[in-house]
Amino acid sequence: MTCALHPGIRVSEIFGPTIQGEGVLIGLPTVFVRTGGCDYRCSWCDSLHAVDRRFRHDWEMMSPDAVWHKVIALSGGQPVMVSLSGGNPAIQPLGQLIDRGHGEGYRFALETQGSVSKQWFADLDVLVLSPKPPSSEMTTDWAAFDACLEAAQDKPQMALKLVVFDDDDYAYAKDAAARYPQLPVYLQPGNHTPPRPGDEDAFIDMAGVMRRMEWLVEKVTRDRWFEARVLPQLHVLLWGNKRGV
Ligand code: SF4
Repeated sequence: MTCALHPGIRVSEIFGPTIQGEGVLIGLPTVFVRTGGCDYRCSWCDSLHAVDRRFRHDWEMMSPDAVWHKVIALSGGQPVMVSLSGGNPAIQPLGQLIDRGHGEGYRFALETQGSVSKQWFADLDVLVLSPKPPSSEMTTDWAAFDACLEAAQDKPQMALKLVVFDDDDYAYAKDAAARYPQLPVYLQPGNHTPPRPGDEDAFIDMAGVMRRMEWLVEKVTRDRWFEARVLPQLHVLLWGNKRGV
């Protein structure tokens, strides 16, 4: 049940356990709670089914308890990393869910573009901040981004994750890394053939993704940017654009 005291969480899908496919937790078994709704609309978003309001009828308003019971069922009651993704999960009331899970030994990671901060960021175990580069056609509000870091109070493990499609994105990534030297940096080549919403297993130009990965590795090594880690999207290598894996 949701009410004023216990607001509901807008959920697009809950699935797993599978592996985390990106960034600092890559390869780690994870249950995903993907929330519905986003304050951005990136040109290459690969999760439009959780962003585009045309798909809001597929989203479900769930109480923190109901979300938690689904996570417990998927994980067989055995503590696992829970990834809060979206959409932008930061626009949902997730503090109570995190408290509940922590009480039972689960850990929580959240990834957000850094446009909305919440006090409960400090309760997370891992906070991945992924500001969106120029190719997304979004504009970064660095004051809002700084507010996310302040809310986290250095309590969770934190990282910067940057998607890079082209030279402008690469320059943006370098600027962002210079702005936050305290954060480890993960670079990821973009998927230029993201799935259309509703297409459960859409075509992907894997050769193109791999070419961009090689290009990015060459750029980083030629630049002697030795602090950056370059990673593919592991789930894309394994399953292409398939959903729910
Ligand atoms: S911030 Fe993420 S979920 Fe939102 S539109 Fe951009 S890529 Fe999609």
